[in-house]
Amino acid sequence: MMTERPLTRNIYPDRPPMNLKEYEKTGGYAALRKVCSTMDPAALQKLVQDSNLKGRGGAGFSTGMKWSLIPMDDKATHPKYLIANADEMEPGTFKDRLLLEGNPHQLIEGMILAAYAIQADIAYVFLRWAYHEAATLIRKSIQEAYDAGYLGTDILGSGFHLEMYLHTGVGRYMCGEETALLNALEGKRATPRAKPPFPQISGLFGKPTIVNNVETLCCVPHIVNNGVAWFKGLSYSDDGGTKVYGVSGKVKRPGAWELPMGVTMRELIEEHAGGMKAGYELKGVLPGGASTDFLTTQHLDIKMDYKSVAAAGSRLGTGTMIVLDSGTCPVGFVHNLQHFFAQESCGWCTPCREGLPWVEKILLALEKGDGKPEDIELLQMHTQFLGPGNTFCALAPGAMEPLQSALKYFMDDFEKHVEHKKCPYN
Ligand code: NAD
Repeated sequence: MMTERPLTRNIYPDRPPMNLKEYEKTGGYAALRKVCSTMDPAALQKLVQDSNLKGRGGAGFSTGMKWSLIPMDDKATHPKYLIANADEMEPGTFKDRLLLEGNPHQLIEGMILAAYAIQADIAYVFLRWAYHEAATLIRKSIQEAYDAGYLGTDILGSGFHLEMYLHTGVGRYMCGEETALLNALEGKRATPRAKPPFPQISGLFGKPTIVNNVETLCCVPHIVNNGVAWFKGLSYSDDGGTKVYGVSGKVKRPGAWELPMGVTMRELIEEHAGGMKAGYELKGVLPGGASTDFLTTQHLDIKMDYKSVAAAGSRLGTGTMIVLDSGTCPVGFVHNLQHFFAQESCGWCTPCREGLPWVEKILLALEKGDGKPEDIELLQMHTQFLGPGNTFCALAPGAMEPLQSALKYFMDDFEKHVEHKKCPYN
């Protein structure tokens, strides 16, 4: 069934990215005009809150609620900041790249609207270092937006001012964590900060700051143009809107597609990704990037929305799934992920700094046939030690999600490594 795909309707693999003129021709910046002439910040905040837009970076926190926590009346709180988190580094996740490279002005318009809603003075795009093409496009598009009067002083005669800058990261996963991102922007070591205070109260340089994901911000112009009922109606579930989903792994057509929020995992894998490649069977799925729990074939009919994936024992996360096939060793697969997480730990808190390399070492030993029976118990223990509440941020708990669920669903494979003193998949 074909439905509307507002975020990607003008993005095609065989077409160059949209420039300002093309974006305007297809309704671009109409939302900004509407807001500047007819809505005050409170009305825009309410609209987004009513739309039930949830953060698409992975956590699914209500965007309207987040905005509503920004102090609005105290002049002493300025400057306020709006940041687009474009540091997309979750393994298996490539949805924001599509939006950044396909239609940069959609993000910029979404950012200006978000900034207007919270009356921010300065906006940053914090971009993943490796997204070189996006960097060039965004830099050019910000300038185009200044030249057209969408940025700078007295935007479209509304009296609202906004400066926007591009900041590229240095390729560290940690910088995607919003408080580490703030430290990085301040020129400090990118370690996480304690929350609370949340950035809405004390963010960049101690000032009120909103950090929103790229896909989240790209939804905003469409909500303004088409209204709350339309946005909610796009979704197959209680969560509003569409979602840019993705599938990677040994499927026939890996890729990303904008679909109604709540399509089933089966539809995504079997229809959009074309099913498994000949000779491979589906063994497991990480539904929303590497830091989510495995689901298996029994979960194929669940809806890919926040509540349904959580009820099945995982998280929607970024909605870009990684498929584990029958020919790939789950122990080796999880080792590969833990290698990434151990390498990307910022070292700020002891459990993450010391625990992740230990987990990686145990998994490598198992994979090489040097594992001992007690290693499996040690891994189980680490999923507790590095779990929620024991670390400073979500990195280590996120890393434990694929491990704990691999131990739950693929224990046989772990035991065979110990028993046969080799990887049964080699
Ligand atoms: P979180 O749940 O702590 O916070 C999510 C957002 O909600 C933040 O902006 C936070 O400020 C806000 N928030 C949460 N509770 C709040 C409260 N009580 N009051 C005010 N604001 C509140 O999650 P997180 O640590 O920011 O992010 C973890 C997620 O990031 C994971 O779900 C993971 O899937 C995802 N992730 C994504 C990428 C990527 O490349 N897109 C990379 C790594 C991790």
